[in-house]
Amino acid sequence: MDCIFCDIIEGKSEAEILYQNEKIISFLDIRPVNYGHALVIPKKHYENFLSVSVDEFEYLLKAMQFIAAAVKTGVNADGFNLIVNNGKAAGQTIFHFHFHIIPRYSNDFKFKPEFKKYSDGAMKEFANKIRSEINKQKDSFNG
Ligand code: 5GP
Ligand code: ZN
Repeated sequence: MDCIFCDIIEGKSEAEILYQNEKIISFLDIRPVNYGHALVIPKKHYENFLSVSVDEFEYLLKAMQFIAAAVKTGVNADGFNLIVNNGKAAGQTIFHFHFHIIPRYSNDFKFKPEFKKYSDGAMKEFANKIRSEINKQKDSFNG
């Protein structure tokens, strides 16, 4: 199966990984709506929300709360959107189930987001800020 997310999970493609364990992985989206835009993904390949197992989904939600808090604090956002696109018509382009965590700032945009490009070194800088929050909290998450 041709799946870029499976390639990242298997270490065949690079990504700015924020956190991973045996079940899930989180890394920065390469085309961020806002800097720090992160993806959270089950390591097992499910096509979309409807096919993901409930057990996996429950675990994923727990991870989402953990990583969304780290993203919000790490990049000093005022809020964040959680988005799941399901199906091509809904904007899904990678057919491996994933959540988007999009940091939001007051008056950043209304309905139409503009994609940004990381300048040299900025992607790592944002990832480091988020990783630092994850490192502070990961014992309580694992426990
Ligand atoms: P979807 O449109 O399926 O909800 O979201 C897929 C997301 O994956 C897009 O926001 C896109 O920018 C991101 N993406 C696609 N290919 C790659 C990649 O190779 N690396 C990373 N980090 N993100 C990717
Ligand atoms: Zn996959």
